Amino acid sequence: MSTGSDNSSPAGIPTPAEVAALDARFNTASTPEILTWAWERFGPQAAVGTSFQGAGLVMMHLAKTAGIRFPVFTLDTGLLFPETLAVKQRLEEFLGWEIEALQADLTVEEQAEAMGPELWRREPDLCCTARKVLPLQRKLENLGCWLTGLRREQSSTRAGVGIIELYTFESGNGPRDIVKLNPMANWSRDAIWQYIHQHKIPYNALHDQGYRSIGCWPCTTKTGAGESERAGRWTGFNKVECGIHTFMSKKVNFDI
Ligand code: SF4
Repeated sequence: MSTGSDNSSPAGIPTPAEVAALDARFNTASTPEILTWAWERFGPQAAVGTSFQGAGLVMMHLAKTAGIRFPVFTLDTGLLFPETLAVKQRLEEFLGWEIEALQADLTVEEQAEAMGPELWRREPDLCCTARKVLPLQRKLENLGCWLTGLRREQSSTRAGVGIIELYTFESGNGPRDIVKLNPMANWSRDAIWQYIHQHKIPYNALHDQGYRSIGCWPCTTKTGAGESERAGRWTGFNKVECGIHTFMSKKVNFDI
C-alpha cells in the first residue's frame, strides 16, 4: 500500500488513518507484538538504528527472541568512544548479527582540513549534520520503517514520542514517507536495566562509570544526580538533540 502522496515512498507505508489506529493499538501492545507487526509489514525494509544505549539493546534481544532478524545499523561518526566500538563487536557476537556502520563522506581528518579543527567545539549542529544526519538520511531512503530506542522518560524533548509515527523527508527522488517505530517509548530506565542484567546482554562499559547517555566522545559527559539522562550531551551548548530525530517532518500528530 502507498500513501498515494508521491511515487518514491516504499510499499507498506500506512495511511494517516491507519497510523492513528495502530497508535491506539500499540499503546497497550507488548513490545514483541509491535516488533512482529513491523517485520510482517516491512520485512528487511524495517531496520533498527542503534547507538547501543540500553533500550536499543533490549529491543534487539526481544526481536531475536521472537525470531525476527531486523537489519541493524549504527552511525559511526569516527568520534565514538573505544568502549562503544567494543560493545558493537561484543553485541554482534552475542546476537550473531552483523551491525552496519554508516559513515560520513569525510573522515574526521578530512573534515578538519575542510572546515577547521574540532568543528564540534564551534558548530556542533554542522558537525552532527555531516557525521550523523546525512549518512542516516541516505540509509532511510532505502527503508520503509526505522526502529529506534527512543523513550519518553529520557528528556523533555522526548516526552511526546509516539510508538508509531509517520514522517516525510526529501530524498534524492523527491518526498518520501517513512514509518518511525519507537517500540521502547513506554519503557522505564529501571525496566531496561533489569532486562539487560537478567539476559546478560553486553552493554557499554561507560554506563558503569556514570555515563547515562553516550554519544561521540567530544560531546558526552557524565550526568549529575537529578539531571535528565541526556543532560551530559553537548554540555555548554543550547543543544539537546543531534538532529537525526528532528530533520524529518511529522505527518500525523497525536496527544500522548
Ligand atoms: S555529537 Fe559532537 S562530535 Fe558527534 S557528530 Fe555531533 S557535534 Fe560532531
